[in-house]
Amino acid sequence: VWDSCLSFIEDNITPQAFKTWFEPIKAVKLTDSALSIQVPSKFFYEWLEEHYVNLLKVSLTRELGESAKLVYVIKMENTYGNKKPFTEKIPSSNRTPVNSQEVDVPIKSKNPELKNPFVIPGIRNVKIESQLNPSYNFENFLEGDSNRLARSAGMAVANKPGGTSFNPLLIFGGVGLGKTHLAHAIGVNIKDNYPEKTVLYISAEKFTQQYIESVKKNNRNDFIHFYQIIDVLIVDDIQLLSGKAGTQDVFFHIFNHLHQNGKQVILTSDKAPVDMQDIEQRLLSRFKWGLSAELHQPDFETRISIIKNKLYRDGVEMPEEIVEFLANNIKTNIRELEGAIISLIAHSSFNKKDITIDLAKAIVDNYVKNTKREVSIDYIQKVVSDYFQMDVETLQSKTRKRHIVQARQLAMFFAKKLTKASLASIGTQIGKRDHATVLHACKTVDNLSSTDKQFRKYVEDLGKKLTL
Ligand code: ADP
Ligand code: MG
Repeated sequence: VWDSCLSFIEDNITPQAFKTWFEPIKAVKLTDSALSIQVPSKFFYEWLEEHYVNLLKVSLTRELGESAKLVYVIKMENTYGNKKPFTEKIPSSNRTPVNSQEVDVPIKSKNPELKNPFVIPGIRNVKIESQLNPSYNFENFLEGDSNRLARSAGMAVANKPGGTSFNPLLIFGGVGLGKTHLAHAIGVNIKDNYPEKTVLYISAEKFTQQYIESVKKNNRNDFIHFYQIIDVLIVDDIQLLSGKAGTQDVFFHIFNHLHQNGKQVILTSDKAPVDMQDIEQRLLSRFKWGLSAELHQPDFETRISIIKNKLYRDGVEMPEEIVEFLANNIKTNIRELEGAIISLIAHSSFNKKDITIDLAKAIVDNYVKNTKREVSIDYIQKVVSDYFQMDVETLQSKTRKRHIVQARQLAMFFAKKLTKASLASIGTQIGKRDHATVLHACKTVDNLSSTDKQFRKYVEDLGKKLTL
């Protein structure tokens, strides 16, 4: 019976996975419709349950019919060398301890091949095993100055995993800036390019839990062995290993093994390696072997394209004014930016109202708690040039045409008024002028707005737009 199951399983997964997870299994007993299989360790059993339970069910149901049951028998090895085999029986698919008796777990599905999404048509779809999220890919990871280096390093690694000097590739940056997204994108791309490679995404937190569990269950070696056969290992939020000496130690061994064998390691962290506390020096120095690429806060243009892309994908339209308002007010966290868009859409469709700037304001206030909204100089230039229907390059140009000079002076005036930037830095950002030019602009705007009615209207209109 087990042999037939195996050949079915073999047809449905990669040879590598089959070799690793199914060849070591021994069938030990068959009574009525219950098959007992012996697995090398508790960890092994958990892995099977987590990743192959459906496949096992289907294969067994084919052989034994509707009432098929599976019982795992775990072979425990005493780690201190003196092999004193004893077994622990665990009922399949039943994690609630029932006196550690064998428990019948009926396998339900009637027409498993059709009903079980796991099996149609690609159990070979190793994404499930890889723990990768295919909706985090390169296509929807928009490029900008803030992420160009990290993104292109990621693509290089995806094209040649283990074959670049970016090993390990460490992606670091603040919360919500795309580390997890990029890490998945690399993995997803590698699976596309090299379907035969074993890719595993895991959070450092989960890695730690698995490790602790393996120590408790006396199968630390299985744990290490499992990680050593991976081709591409992605560990997210590696800073969480700080202060965890045991996990760091085991990770160090796994890392060395993989690295020596030309396997790719991808890590993310919310800190640069130099700022990581309580991580062993030998591990930190390993991180520096490859490339550390930072994800910075996205600039205004990138925030705009991220918002527009999200709206486009969700099939939602939003006035330009509101898109810019959002981009201007949520700057430091793309996750929050997306959250604000989602709740804006939800509010407006729930109340059957248009998306208005007032609604946007209320929602943004929820997101940007207590932090005073500060506009950026980029944003000011954009608003001013839109207002005068010119583009930002024109506003910044050397031309002396009166209306362009005025627009430029207004931009400088508002930059001084609404940001903390120095005169010199405002000058540099608005068409590479010096601080005296900015000071002159501020005075001119002050004068003109008290003598020229039309000009005063410009100042008022722009002031309103900029301080929404
Ligand atoms: P982190 O892991 O750094 O905290 P995430 O990877 O979870 O951040 O990203 C937060 C959200 O922002 C995710 O929904 C992600 O898809 C989105 N995001 C981040 N960077 C980009 C980008 N460059 N283009 C599009 N979406 C992005
Ligand atoms: Mg993350």
